[in-house]
Amino acid sequence: MTISGKAKLAGVMGWPVSHSRSPLLHNHWISIMGLEAVYVPLAVSPDNFETALKALPTLGFRGANVTVPHKEAAFHLCKRHDKAALRVRAVNTIVCLEDGTLEGRNTDVVGFSESLKLQAGLEGIEGATAVVLGAGGAARAVVAALVDLNCACIRICNRTVEKAQAIANSLHDEDVEIHALGWDERDDALDGATILVNTTTLGMVGQPALAIDLAPLPRGSIVADIVYTPLETPLLAAARELGLTAVGGLRMLIEQARPGFEAWFGEKPPVTRDLIEMLETDVKAKAG
Ligand code: NAP
Repeated sequence: MTISGKAKLAGVMGWPVSHSRSPLLHNHWISIMGLEAVYVPLAVSPDNFETALKALPTLGFRGANVTVPHKEAAFHLCKRHDKAALRVRAVNTIVCLEDGTLEGRNTDVVGFSESLKLQAGLEGIEGATAVVLGAGGAARAVVAALVDLNCACIRICNRTVEKAQAIANSLHDEDVEIHALGWDERDDALDGATILVNTTTLGMVGQPALAIDLAPLPRGSIVADIVYTPLETPLLAAARELGLTAVGGLRMLIEQARPGFEAWFGEKPPVTRDLIEMLETDVKAKAG
């Protein structure tokens, strides 16, 4: 790859950042689209985050992605926000505006809703009861997406029930009932539900599997896992075994990346079979 002095710059800030697939993803798009651009990993500790973030425009960056643990800090440090970031109070995409202002956006919301639509279709989502497991950063975006997709009822189950309650309070919408439940209530929460989404870290490589009995879910139900290391989590395997629609997390990763790429480099990147295979191969090589 040749990087000229005119190359447009973007990157991902995280701590650690070496596990991030974003450089692979964005540089693949840069390469196949023939752009003069480069996307770099930026290992930034929490202590240095504010300084590093504010330096982006000075360094000539078009913007950056922000990942764990910086998404909330980025929200507070950005001067402007898009609607999704204001709802979720977290930022995963920074756009440096021409006057140097940092605009914080949240593309995890659209990333999840696009992934769900593409892998499960819209049928069966509107008016449905959904159960969301977990109430961390990603859960806020998933719940916002389910509100946008017109679910009628969302039950959030989390080990720390206060965090589930905080999401229910902040994303309260008059057309959707949102309930916060404890972790032990997750099996009962499936009663009457047709959508289940795991947003906890359970099922990730190195973490215990998620223990939940999927039997109460009727035929045609959707089981989504936003964890994508491994590609097929024990939850997704159990869902497939029961003939349910299984929705993996890799597509969310791809879909959340596309709006940032377009904002920085001016063109919407394509999702090709080659791209998906490249990412799957990388995940399999590292996650088994
Ligand atoms: P986070 O903010 O750290 O939240 C982790 C969640 O998991 C919390 O709700 C936590 O409960 C729960 N949890 C952790 N260990 C648990 C256990 N032993 N039993 C029950 N619950 C447990 O993480 P995040 O940023 O939301 O990310 C969560 C997962 O989503 C990660 O695997 C991440 O890689 C994935 N993710 C995927 C995408 C994508 O594009 N596909 C995007 C974002 C995130 P407490 O609140 O009680 O601690």
